Amino acid sequence: MNLIEEIENITGKCISCGFCESVCPTLSADGFNSVFGARGRVILADFAIKNNPDELELGDSFYSCLDCYACVNVCPAGVNAGVVSELMRELVVSGKAGKKNPVAEMIKTSIMNYENPLGLKEEAASWADGIKFDECSTLMVTGQMYQMMPYTRQINRIRKYIDEDLVENVASALNSHISLIKISRHFYDRELKMKMESDLRNIVSLLQKSGVKFGYLGTEEPYPGMFLYDLGYIDEFREYAERVYALLVKKGVKKIIAIDPHTYDIFQNIYPKFIKNYKIKIVYYTDLLDLKYRNFNGNITVQEPCHMVLHNNSFRAIDILNSVAEIRLPERNGKSTMCCGGPDELLFPDISGKVSMQRYADLKKKSDNIVTICPLCYNSLAYDKNVWDFSEFMGKLVQNK
Ligand code: SF4
Ligand code: SF4
Repeated sequence: MNLIEEIENITGKCISCGFCESVCPTLSADGFNSVFGARGRVILADFAIKNNPDELELGDSFYSCLDCYACVNVCPAGVNAGVVSELMRELVVSGKAGKKNPVAEMIKTSIMNYENPLGLKEEAASWADGIKFDECSTLMVTGQMYQMMPYTRQINRIRKYIDEDLVENVASALNSHISLIKISRHFYDRELKMKMESDLRNIVSLLQKSGVKFGYLGTEEPYPGMFLYDLGYIDEFREYAERVYALLVKKGVKKIIAIDPHTYDIFQNIYPKFIKNYKIKIVYYTDLLDLKYRNFNGNITVQEPCHMVLHNNSFRAIDILNSVAEIRLPERNGKSTMCCGGPDELLFPDISGKVSMQRYADLKKKSDNIVTICPLCYNSLAYDKNVWDFSEFMGKLVQNK
């Protein structure tokens, strides 16, 4: 089946009932502009492939999809508008529809050249200075997600003062002279950097106290390639995933401990589709914790990450939190959880900010204390000091055995 047939196969099932619009976070965030909602994306994709897609300015509709998959859980026809958006981005990238996004192009070129979306591979390892890791076939993979948050936050602060056309021009210029992207190392939120590095050390400490043995590649650790896949650069992703997998095989890795949902998802669900005889086992770090905790004095609410809850089966983090505190879940929880808006942060910061404000307000209605289990969720929702990353929250409650 070719790409167009694959898209048609999904969009052809849509009965245009609109149930998916009620859960799609980007629809209200973009002022109810229908092409920024789930149903609009399906209808636009269907129209585009049946007409002349070159003539349509359709890229933003699909690029702004958060890939949260909230839509498929309410669709009576089983349509996943997130997957439609992924396939349409692939069509845009292939040059067969719409206009490529210049920021996406820049990110792609940076990953292919520097193994990090913002050219920050070396910076991503400094948090681990002085930590002793084991030499074994189990590897902790950070995905460089905690490390990138201080940079994306600062870049978006600057972006607010820049016209969108200028942003696109700068991205195009950086794409043509990609070594200049390394200038981004100078733009980061200092306080958030310290906090993210502290969270990474908390994760290592929780795992080591649980008796888990694992290594870490340090400055050799490549970004896993989520943006390449998510933005539709499938040929590049295939090449890149093979490169990453070859490195893991060379290092003798048999098991990966992922510490963020996006890295878990890509190694668990996407790499096996691209790598023949993929043999590495993936586990989420919270599932390995074996510790005694004291109780938290108060109640909490939890932002369940969509890439774990909606793309994968449930994981033990909620059970652990449940054992130490009364959890007051927001109205949208479990398989109905709502995305934090984080995946749109680099391409659509306005939409991302509006989605995160909405989610933050929903969570705050339930409890003053919000626990997140993903660095993107933390970065998106940390509007006050009572928002905690799981690693910090649990790290404070660990009791000596
Ligand atoms: S819920 Fe499903 S069938 Fe209804 S409009 Fe959305 S995609 Fe189409
Ligand atoms: S995956 Fe999420 S953002 Fe994308 S269309 Fe579905 S509900 Fe909307």
